[in-house]
Amino acid sequence: MPTSADLLTRPPKGATELIAASVAREWAEAQREWDFTGDTLDDGDPEFPDACGFCGERNIRTAHQVQNRLNGHTRWLGSECIKRYLILGGVETLEDSQRLFQRQLKRAATRRALGDIGLRLLSEEYPPWEDLAALPRLLCRYYDVRSLVPILHDHWSDILGLVLGAPPDAFFAGDVERVRAAILEPRTLMPPGFKPPRQPRGLGSWGSQRRRHTRVTTTVSATTSQRGADRERESDPDH
Ligand SMILES: [Zn+2]
Repeated sequence: MPTSADLLTRPPKGATELIAASVAREWAEAQREWDFTGDTLDDGDPEFPDACGFCGERNIRTAHQVQNRLNGHTRWLGSECIKRYLILGGVETLEDSQRLFQRQLKRAATRRALGDIGLRLLSEEYPPWEDLAALPRLLCRYYDVRSLVPILHDHWSDILGLVLGAPPDAFFAGDVERVRAAILEPRTLMPPGFKPPRQPRGLGSWGSQRRRHTRVTTTVSATTSQRGADRERESDPDH
């Protein structure tokens, strides 16, 4: 097993093509010119590459796009090669790069999930309730916050753009309104008489969601009165 120091200096097998696509001619520099774009393809996708664009391995199930930040060239690589050989932007060591890549993968997956929800939200008259329940939770994960309330004002157009999959000004006002309603008043998008399986959450308040989860086994009347208490507590900013 090569050590981290080896990987930083000696070009691994398969590096020649990536060096050729880089600006630097030395591997130690070339491997630092690439970033993960956030685009991932799964096997079965029509665009899926035949093999990893680094080592040539054909038996990969997902391919991730990397881009050279100096010349804009792109390549599709398997995750193993990205983790073993590239030092993604902004960090010094291979280990930090691996951690960064994991974070970026999660973030990209969250972004895709948000885009999928946005698509259903805009194309279906009554979107699945699960989508509406997941929306604040995914947004909280994306922005790494526990509740959306403090960032709603500052990031409102970012949030809309994220869910709509493009800048909000690229969409009709009705689309923007619909996403706004999905986040702030999800029940208004459901058919008349719809009863959500659980109480809608307080704009992605994870803590209260978990608390409520553990109370499913309590009696109906106790749960109902507790929900009232939860609602009051959630509206209390000091809580
Ligand atoms: Zn590879």
